[in-house]
Amino acid sequence: MRNKKVEGLILKEVPYQKENMKLFSVFTRELGKVLISAQSSRKLQNSKRILSPLNLCEFELYTSSAGYFKVKNAVLKASFYPLERKSAEKQLQSIQDISQVAEIIEKTIEEGEPNLSLYSLVVKSAMIIHHTANQLILEAFKVKLLGLSGTLPNLKHCFECREKRNDDKNWITQDSLHMYCTHCLPKDSMQYASVTLDTLKLLHFIATAEFEEIAKISTSAKNIEELKQLNSLLLTQLTTRDLKSEKTLLN
Ligand SMILES: [Zn+2]
Repeated sequence: MRNKKVEGLILKEVPYQKENMKLFSVFTRELGKVLISAQSSRKLQNSKRILSPLNLCEFELYTSSAGYFKVKNAVLKASFYPLERKSAEKQLQSIQDISQVAEIIEKTIEEGEPNLSLYSLVVKSAMIIHHTANQLILEAFKVKLLGLSGTLPNLKHCFECREKRNDDKNWITQDSLHMYCTHCLPKDSMQYASVTLDTLKLLHFIATAEFEEIAKISTSAKNIEELKQLNSLLLTQLTTRDLKSEKTLLN
């Protein structure tokens, strides 16, 4: 097979038994998520630092006789595991947040399904987190990921009575992920999260706004925390499928 040039973010190093070889899970623009192996010695010696998690690289790949992608050459385009400028605390925060972006992608998408919108979302989120260390960006990434996967529920109206929500008494049940007003919340609901109107508004703004706009708004720590809780609830439904749909249920 001819050599193939792809761009991708290294999500993680995968444990590998073979001596002198390293294996990485990489989210690429052209091939989707793939496993690629690289020789850890000799030829690729100067790529050693290049081939590490949270690096965005341009790879020259070839397919081995066994059908695996192997790295022939790699050029670093950006590193999100940097040592520069920002204060240590901010730097640590942004590394943690970008690691979480990588982990979510690693866990929620199937191998070998290219998705350009998702790829752009991942790279853009990582870039902006890296430059701003703004904690809201990670949550914005999650909201947009749910939007891209078509699993962002309607969080404007009560699921039962359809009344537009105008107060802080909103309940999202853990099993169905529907949102209810206090009056309609099913009596047998065991677990649900409460969400204030401010947080719902923040989520709706984020769902359609550009990252540049999102990075400019100021939110309270309480709002971010509440959005984080809501996102972790909504993300439970994202299994290793359905990221092909681009429709959003938000209306
Ligand atoms: Zn209702």
